[in-house]
Amino acid sequence: MADTTESESRKLLVRLREAMAGDDAGQARLDKITHLIADSMGTEVCSVYLFRDDETLELCATQGLNTESVHQTRMRIGEGLVGRVAKFGKVVNTPDAPHAKGFRYMPETGEERFSSFLGVPVQRLGEMLGVLVVQSKDAREFSADAVYALEVVAMVIAEMTELGAFVGEGAALSPLHQQAVLIHGTSAQEGAAEGHVWLHEPRVIVTNPIADDPQRELERLNDAVEELRVGVDKMLEVSRDGDTEQLQVLEAYRMFANSKGWMRRMEEDIARGLSAEAAVEKEQSQARARMSQVQDAYLRERLSDLDDLSNRLLRILTGQGANTGAELPENPILIARNIGPGDLLEYGRSLRGIVLEEGSVGSHAAIVARALAIPLVVNAKRITTEALNGDHIMVDGDQGVVHLRPEDTVVGAFRDKIAMHTKAQERYASIRDKPAITTDGQRINMVMNAGLMADLPSLDGSGAEGVGLFRTELQFLVRNQMPKRSELVALYKRVLDAAHGKPVVFRTLDIGSDKVLPYMKPTDEPNPALGWRAIRVGLDKPGVMRMQLQALLRAAEGRPLSIMFPFVAQFEEYRAARAEVEKTIERERILGHVLPADLKIGAMLETPSLAYAPQKFFDEVAFISIGGNDLKQFFFAADRENERVRRRYDTLNVSFLSFIERIVERCAISGTPLSFCGEDAGRPVEAVCLAAMGIRTLSMRPASIGPVKSLLLRVDLGELRKIISDARHRGDQAVRPAVMEYLRGL
Ligand code: PEP
Ligand code: MG
Repeated sequence: MADTTESESRKLLVRLREAMAGDDAGQARLDKITHLIADSMGTEVCSVYLFRDDETLELCATQGLNTESVHQTRMRIGEGLVGRVAKFGKVVNTPDAPHAKGFRYMPETGEERFSSFLGVPVQRLGEMLGVLVVQSKDAREFSADAVYALEVVAMVIAEMTELGAFVGEGAALSPLHQQAVLIHGTSAQEGAAEGHVWLHEPRVIVTNPIADDPQRELERLNDAVEELRVGVDKMLEVSRDGDTEQLQVLEAYRMFANSKGWMRRMEEDIARGLSAEAAVEKEQSQARARMSQVQDAYLRERLSDLDDLSNRLLRILTGQGANTGAELPENPILIARNIGPGDLLEYGRSLRGIVLEEGSVGSHAAIVARALAIPLVVNAKRITTEALNGDHIMVDGDQGVVHLRPEDTVVGAFRDKIAMHTKAQERYASIRDKPAITTDGQRINMVMNAGLMADLPSLDGSGAEGVGLFRTELQFLVRNQMPKRSELVALYKRVLDAAHGKPVVFRTLDIGSDKVLPYMKPTDEPNPALGWRAIRVGLDKPGVMRMQLQALLRAAEGRPLSIMFPFVAQFEEYRAARAEVEKTIERERILGHVLPADLKIGAMLETPSLAYAPQKFFDEVAFISIGGNDLKQFFFAADRENERVRRRYDTLNVSFLSFIERIVERCAISGTPLSFCGEDAGRPVEAVCLAAMGIRTLSMRPASIGPVKSLLLRVDLGELRKIISDARHRGDQAVRPAVMEYLRGL
């Protein structure tokens, strides 16, 4: 039999289902499956290769190759035809394998006797698990139908949840989801937490991938799609009077929900023997695979819409996921592929920790997690597949490490770490109300960074003397539509009320670059960090900026107000922005609104150019705050979002510290108040060095105030400055070794 027709592929699936329903487990079941596929497709060989680790594939079952090579034959991804299928996620179909590109002869399997080769990826929702191969002696090219049938079978194999148990002889004995797992991710918020897994969106498990009544499955699919469409229409109805951008997103949803191509492909899958949910998942898998290849941000968004719709459809079909009635476990640690800031805020402080499979340090979820001071690890590969609801889990936000179902020894060591954290917190609480005065009598003003109402309680708890940076864009980022002016007035008022007279510096909207508002059209820029962002957007399209300035002036209700413009690269921009404020004030005056008792208009110094602005700029500006995160990335030309380079240049570098010193000198000439509000202000060693260079106001995350103050109380800034100067005169580029030696000796 050279080909497999549609009904034959269904027959194959029915036989496969019987095989899977039998009592055989693990290896025996996989052996039976390879036998059955070879038999049904009329090939001499059928083999399953599965990933052993990220790089290596292992032959796990075969019909037709030497059985001694099972669990012995291994290859690296990209190696041989099998390795190529795994590497590129694409089908290889050739009548003459020994002469095909990439062929590698493996004598132990005896495969040189086989001419034709058909290999398809085994993947689940875009995750590559292995390769399924059939081979035959006669030189034939498999038909499109045969390829399709094998792909469908590969999908069913991927669904076998015990898949991991087939790899390696030892591993065959230990079922997945019971072993201890250590996952290395990236730290996005420090802290340590122990608790139990709470899956934000539990993965839908398809227990019936194969069905024998296609008609019935088609009806189920149609009913579910209808329910989905009604749901999307309802969402559209609700947001009719919302803004147009959000409507556009929903319209795109509706377009997908009504897409004929999507429906047709799923109907074909069902005709070939898949159940309705397996058909949805197959299309979803392919969309995910495409998603990983697409560079264009807009297209990726659309594919992710489709992914989201597929999830909804799966939930409708299986009744799993949403509204399962499960309750949050004790000390919940949230696990998700990714999560929006709105969803995260809904959980609020009930969470002990967060682990995301994707996400990034600068993501909106990370910003919220930081505001809530919840330890967060991002980039935790495979966490959503490894973790089950209720699993014991420990999150080390300092190191970016996650221990899932940890062994006793790990539990002990981790609890010691948590205890140390608690002790340190007690120590910080004891110095909370003490001013930060160094041993040589220098007083450092300790203020905090904020951006959400959730941050404000920390103003008392941390001992901060005010808010040195209120990032107003967070309010815009966590919503799915542009906030109204009246909402902003109410919010800023609440912020000022909560500050109880302590100063608050509001930074105007800093969008663009990594901060893209979900409801604004994305601009396609080759280099967003150097592109149309922050004050550049504000000056070119002043509508939103004016609305925000008005809201700030009104919220002050006669109280003192400080406004700061982000990303000012030259004097002219500051002047133009200040002129906008003055115009707004004039309008407010005419409208009869009360004006702030005292208004200070400052600028953020985030580009090296501003440090060399004319002296008149320093004379005119009310205050300057160094945005060290951006300033450092432009000073060293090292992207702050790029894991490869973002830690390459140390803040404690003679060049950078000398540059800071220069800014301090320029401000001193005009008596311009200067602060530093980048992340480095919250790192104790960096913070004391910044103070040594002359910075007298440090603005940082509330949780950093204790550790930074604790060190400041013990250092002599004069001595520290001399150490830095000596390093410079010696010709050292790195200052850290000498600084650390001094600090260790305290
Ligand atoms: C900075 O750049 O240092 C800063 C404080 O602003 P943001 O991190 O919001 O860009
Ligand atoms: Mg910045």
